[in-house]
Amino acid sequence: VAYDYQLVIIGAGSAGLSAADLSAGLGFTRVALVEASDRLGGECLHSGCVPSKALLHIAKQYGHEKDPWGHVQKSISLIQNRSDNDEHFQDRGVSVLHGRAAFVDAHTITLDGQRRITSKYYLLATGSRPRVPDIAGLSDSGYHTNETIFSLDATPATLAILGGGPIGCELAMAFALLGTKVSLIQSGPRLLPREEASVSEAVRARMKELGVQLYPNTDVQRVHKTADTKVLTLQQDGAQQTIEAAQLLVAVGRQPVLESLDLEKAGVQYDDAGVHTNRYFQTGQRNIYAVGDCTPSPKFTHLAGHQAGVALRNMITPLFKKSGRYLDVTPWITYLQPEIGRIGMTEAEVKDAGLPHIVLQLNLRDIDRAITDDAYEGYVKAIVDKGGKLLGATVLADNAGELLTPLCHIYYHKQSIASLATTVIPYPTFASGLNLLAARYASETTRQNSLFRLLTRKWRTPN
Ligand SMILES: Cc1cc2nc3c(=O)[nH]c(=O)nc-3n(C[C@H](O)[C@H](O)[C@H](O)COP(=O)(O)OP(=O)(O)OC[C@H]3O[C@@H](n4cnc5c(N)ncnc54)[C@H](O)[C@@H]3O)c2cc1C
Repeated sequence: VAYDYQLVIIGAGSAGLSAADLSAGLGFTRVALVEASDRLGGECLHSGCVPSKALLHIAKQYGHEKDPWGHVQKSISLIQNRSDNDEHFQDRGVSVLHGRAAFVDAHTITLDGQRRITSKYYLLATGSRPRVPDIAGLSDSGYHTNETIFSLDATPATLAILGGGPIGCELAMAFALLGTKVSLIQSGPRLLPREEASVSEAVRARMKELGVQLYPNTDVQRVHKTADTKVLTLQQDGAQQTIEAAQLLVAVGRQPVLESLDLEKAGVQYDDAGVHTNRYFQTGQRNIYAVGDCTPSPKFTHLAGHQAGVALRNMITPLFKKSGRYLDVTPWITYLQPEIGRIGMTEAEVKDAGLPHIVLQLNLRDIDRAITDDAYEGYVKAIVDKGGKLLGATVLADNAGELLTPLCHIYYHKQSIASLATTVIPYPTFASGLNLLAARYASETTRQNSLFRLLTRKWRTPN
């Protein structure tokens, strides 16, 4: 059958752009990138990673002394102009088509219900949107989500945030540093519930220091609007109270964007969590793959990009498909002050799973550079199995992302943490602390090793 394209990528966000970038190098010749909006980049560029990190940068660096909104927009435009635009991809041989895709059958889509396109393969990368809870009066009162909050042109005096997960916490901290009086409302008992309990506690303490008013175990019962504020009625531990804020931000979860794709016509299965795929990122329809936020997987830009690479590789080598199982564990950073880096399991999860393990912890004050830089609140914690393989790690540090990266390397390459003890790392960097962490593992295990004990008996035997 002669198809118009060999591959059509639907959605030009993190996953779709990675796929488009990789396609020529992998040998695809006729590729189209379909995007419903008039701009490429998706959530990460326009309403996710980029604006949130630009806002946090100004907030952490300058507090309320500098207006952040110009920097937020400038960061988006610089990336848009550099690479996330139609010309960039057209120059690489990818046809960029703007229009909303909907399936007619497993090989045919329409754009905005009109132009018909056929393709051998499809990659679904349509992303997710914020989930908005059903709260009385919420829509009439007006609220922000991540899709609108970065278009503010002035920092609000007061802000109520619903949701104590990564997005709620990052924005609570950014606005608090910028001088906004923030109220952070969460239904559960602790902030960042997926992290180590000690991390949640450190974040709670830092939020308090910044004057964030915390409402744990709290539900919002209704919202109403006055001339210039939103009034929230809260139910906390059985008691009712009201709070007021100039702006309200909803950050309570995500839902996949799938409804206008007519996936039924293509025979693709999905549910509220996203498109169903196998470990090769292939849907029930063998020529249609799905990656990124429109699937049930964790929602991160770096993960979406890696999944896209595996999916494309599987389309071109169908007999030697690569499993994406290794991506079931993904690292992430929550960009607070200090940052939180994480890969794999927490200590509690390792214990619950009954896995034999060793916990290695290095406090930042044991690293010389942390002392010279006056940044010694925090730690690196690694949980390893008896052979030194990483089961999980958490870093609490201003530059947690950089410190977590070598740990990600040994995780994915299944190396023992001992390999970091024999890696020469420049002094005085924060990363040189990883030498110390690995040395702790080495000394812990060699002391227990019977051959080592035998060989060193002479030195250990008192004269
Ligand atoms: C506030 C915030 C901060 C974040 N910070 C980080 C971070 O620091 N690090 C990190 O890794 N992740 C972060 N994320 C998550 C990250 O933004 C997402 O995981 C990532 O953008 C998902 O990429 P995607 O390609 O799957 O989807 P998206 O980026 O959402 O792209 C989907 C694209 O598909 C298009 N589309 C949808 N339907 C159709 C259709 N029918 N036809 C054609 N096009 C369609 C959309 O218009 C969109 O452009 C953050 C998210 C938020 C909300």
